[in-house]
Amino acid sequence: MTARPLPSATDLTRAQYDGRACVWCGKPLWRNAVSAGIARGKIGAVVLDIVVYACPLCAEGHDPQTPRR
Ligand SMILES: [Zn+2]
Repeated sequence: MTARPLPSATDLTRAQYDGRACVWCGKPLWRNAVSAGIARGKIGAVVLDIVVYACPLCAEGHDPQTPRR
C-alpha cells in the first residue's frame, strides 16, 4: 500500500473503473494486480466509489516511467 493519492473516480477511464487497468499508469492489468484502495467520486447524487487496482510497480511506489533494475 502506498501513500500515493488515488485519482477521483470521475477521472478514471472505463478500464480503470472496471479494474482492468492500473489506476496510476493506465497499463492493462493481466496478472498481479494489487488492490490500490477506493477511488471516490460522485456525479450528482450517484456515488461512484469503486475499488481500483494497480500494477505491482505502481503499488510499490515506483515511477512507471523508470526502468526497473
Ligand atoms: Zn501502474
